[in-house]
Amino acid sequence: MAAKQPLIISDKNQMRKWSSTMKSQGKTIGLVPTMGFLHEGHISLVREVHRHADVVAVSIYVNPGQFSPSEDLSTYPSDFDGDVRKLMAVPGGVDVVFHPHNLYNYGGTDTNKKSASVINNVAVLSCIEQKGIGHETWVRVENLEKGLCGKSRPIFFRGVATVVTKLFNIVEPDVAVFGKKDYQQWRIIQRMVRDLDFSIEVIGSAIIRDSDGLAMSSRNVRLSPEEREKALSINKSLLGAKSAAANGQMDCNKLRNLVIQAITEAGGRIDYAEIVDQQSLEAVESIEAPVVFCVAAWFGKVRLIDNMEIDL
Ligand code: AMP
Repeated sequence: MAAKQPLIISDKNQMRKWSSTMKSQGKTIGLVPTMGFLHEGHISLVREVHRHADVVAVSIYVNPGQFSPSEDLSTYPSDFDGDVRKLMAVPGGVDVVFHPHNLYNYGGTDTNKKSASVINNVAVLSCIEQKGIGHETWVRVENLEKGLCGKSRPIFFRGVATVVTKLFNIVEPDVAVFGKKDYQQWRIIQRMVRDLDFSIEVIGSAIIRDSDGLAMSSRNVRLSPEEREKALSINKSLLGAKSAAANGQMDCNKLRNLVIQAITEAGGRIDYAEIVDQQSLEAVESIEAPVVFCVAAWFGKVRLIDNMEIDL
């Protein structure tokens, strides 16, 4: 059977129209938000959303609102044509690829058109902050956004929650799938949906890893072969901590030290290594309820995140 060619929609009003047509036909809509440069981790979310919805939209948008000026927006990898080919190869394909160019354009100058393609830090951010008519409304999930990645990336989650709100309002999905790879992000979106009464089911999908254990990420292409080898210490040490816990080691400081030491000895620089409650994301001292061990570490110029649920 020929692979299904998705509709490529870049205008938010056209996107809305498509969704309302689908709804008028009684179809449920599934959405997978991504920043593109798709890999098997993203594709697993597309497979998952097919199990819950009649039609499927995948958004590809590198959201300038979640990058601070010092971060890697300008070097974030992209390959739109390759992404579309990968989506066509998924069983069932996808119905729409939403690749918005006007998400932060409110009818002023069209500088935002550039922001989606040129990807220049300053141009992008100044476009959002455009005096008088710029974007100034943010969604914040006040407590869940504070810890873990929120400590070193203080504007990250307000950018994520805001753009996901915009995507939800435009696409109006019935179901949205997020990867547990970005565990804090998934919990934040779940909480936001509950707190703001979005009528959307938010599903968390398992982390997909390469055969050597490294969690797949669009950023992995920026690792040198040596850095990639060193980065395997993240998954290895998390597995070690999980099995230590299964063998009765419930002291979170001891478990954290195992991981910090292994990653540091491998040549990584720890941003954080924390064992937190799966729901509240608050740090715990000993494992008494389901927890998730979350790690962020730098290898060269690349910051990687990974985590492991421990459900004893
Ligand atoms: P990104 O394009 O990095 O913003 O990711 C888009 C979605 O894919 C998010 O929900 C991520 O959590 C998810 N994702 C990214 N990498 C993986 C992975 N290795 N396994 C599962 N989900 C992933």
